[in-house]
Amino acid sequence: MYVTDKFRLRQSVGIVHHDDTVEFFCANTREILKIRTPFPNIIGLLNLFNGQNTIDDIVDLYGNIEKSQLVKLVIFLNQNNILIQQNILYPKDILDKEYRLINLLEDYFSNTQSVMNAFYQLQQSKVMIVGLGAVGSMIAVYLAKNGVCNFVFVDNDIVDSSNLHRQYYFEHQIGLSKSQSLYNELKNINSNIQVNIINRLLSEDFFDDFNVEEISLIINCADEPSVDVTSRIIAQYAMKNHIPHIVGGGYNLHLTLIGQSIIPFKTACFECFNVALKNLNQIELKNVKKLHRENRKLGSFSPLSGIASTLASLDAFKILIGRDDLLQQANKRIEFNLKDHRFNVIDIEKNPDCKWCQSDER
Ligand SMILES: [Zn+2]
Repeated sequence: MYVTDKFRLRQSVGIVHHDDTVEFFCANTREILKIRTPFPNIIGLLNLFNGQNTIDDIVDLYGNIEKSQLVKLVIFLNQNNILIQQNILYPKDILDKEYRLINLLEDYFSNTQSVMNAFYQLQQSKVMIVGLGAVGSMIAVYLAKNGVCNFVFVDNDIVDSSNLHRQYYFEHQIGLSKSQSLYNELKNINSNIQVNIINRLLSEDFFDDFNVEEISLIINCADEPSVDVTSRIIAQYAMKNHIPHIVGGGYNLHLTLIGQSIIPFKTACFECFNVALKNLNQIELKNVKKLHRENRKLGSFSPLSGIASTLASLDAFKILIGRDDLLQQANKRIEFNLKDHRFNVIDIEKNPDCKWCQSDER
């Protein structure tokens, strides 16, 4: 850090001051930081961090403070997400339109240059969504609203009247392609959005002749023939090509399954989960005889599929801005239980003996 650096309070920070204690409250992350301060008129001092004064300026303006003391305080408040370093000014046209998103991004970075880089990264990233049902269509909408401009949609289904109560489609789209209908809707959110439409089911040979380049993230929301089958196909391709991927989740009988987020060779992979869950089921379902019933049409409810899609979108957002160290759904199997309003979480660590995790060819 240089004494010519400029800092300011983040937009999301609230400050309460009593006697010699200052309490910072980060509205977005709900974090609270309390410090005892030796500085008189601490509010006056904090107000000098306006993005225009350098550390040298503040020493002069505030007076009666050691530069080394101030530098220590600045480093501490920067590391604890209170002060952000203003090393560039945001372009006015972007700030006017996107200040909500920019202010949220500030909570993930220590300086304004990194915030803008993340903003552009969101715009330039390409997200592949496989399966555009209740979870997939809503994830596409959330990501489009958060600044993602490039998508690949894989789905060969058409809009049916039974879809409307939970998926992002409308009466006038019944009988039309889901991919094209959703593309049209995203264009109403942001006219710069581009979608590469692949009207195919995700079959075993899907990726054999696949040549869409530079996919930043794949989200699987396809359940035909089953989520396990489609997730395996995607995970194999994504591991080989080092692409982060999310199993979008959805229903697991009466529970809402929150899909896992996977960063190849860093977090537990699809096969790590597979082995761990198989072992778990063997213990839990020992001596249980299951009655096989074909063609069951389970009910569904948009607020529940909505939980799976919003949480997947949140992890997708973090992956796309380069903060995959903060994923809430990595190394975890999560189910929301409607009956008792609890998230049941099983921790599943990366398996040191996993065949897939050991197959990194790079
Ligand atoms: Zn693994």
